[in-house]
Amino acid sequence: MEAGLEMLLAEVLSPSQVSQFLNCPAKWMFRYLLDLKEPGTAATALGRAFHETIAHNFRQKAETAHDLAVAECLDCFRKILGPQLEEAKLQKGEHPMELLELGETMVTKYIEDAAPLIRPAAVESRVSGVIGGVKVSGYVDLLDIEGRIIDSKSALKPLKGIAHHHHLQLTSYVMITPAASGACRLDTVTKGKTVSLIQKSFFINEKDRHYAETIYPMVQDSIREGIFLPRRSSPLCSRRFCGFWNVCEKEYGGSVRCD
Ligand code: SF4
Repeated sequence: MEAGLEMLLAEVLSPSQVSQFLNCPAKWMFRYLLDLKEPGTAATALGRAFHETIAHNFRQKAETAHDLAVAECLDCFRKILGPQLEEAKLQKGEHPMELLELGETMVTKYIEDAAPLIRPAAVESRVSGVIGGVKVSGYVDLLDIEGRIIDSKSALKPLKGIAHHHHLQLTSYVMITPAASGACRLDTVTKGKTVSLIQKSFFINEKDRHYAETIYPMVQDSIREGIFLPRRSSPLCSRRFCGFWNVCEKEYGGSVRCD
């Protein structure tokens, strides 16, 4: 590693970089320090196509005040998912047609059940500020007209509560978005026995802000110290969810689990 490179990279952090580092420092290193492109997985392909389709709908809704028709959203979703799946390394039991059908069901669910009640003021807008003395910059998925931040995601596994990294990410965006009221909602379309929409609303409080102010400088210091532990015990560490598993095994040894 070139001396000083870490200092440069960690000078400005994005909320997603901090979440990534907390989930797995080695993954952060592969992506942000070594600048490796993460080979796609079924989860990342589906996640990106879902996310971009929903953003496409809300970008135009911010102008027109109307959602796109479901058919238009599905058309957009297929166009994004196709190239993503071509590049993705699918694991045993994962099939492109099944993923396409699952994704279409997820997009339909979100556009029919969640989108009509959302009134976007800004979509994927760039924001920046300082948290705990660290410069922070990122893109807010959606700010509604009441100043609430809404993040929309797809998940291949049913969720329990709000993941720590999602909570910290939304806390960070509230802290650097001038028009944010402090209210947040995480919308997740997830696959259990059926596809369902789970909406978790919460308000960012002083304890949350304090935590972010503590964590950001610690993450910055850890990056500058250059110790990038592979978090093999993380629930997100598997060949299904981390595209770097191959390079990670070569770098650190051991075996990354398959499921
Ligand atoms: S395979 Fe696991 S330990 Fe390695 S980078 Fe990915 S999440 Fe981290």
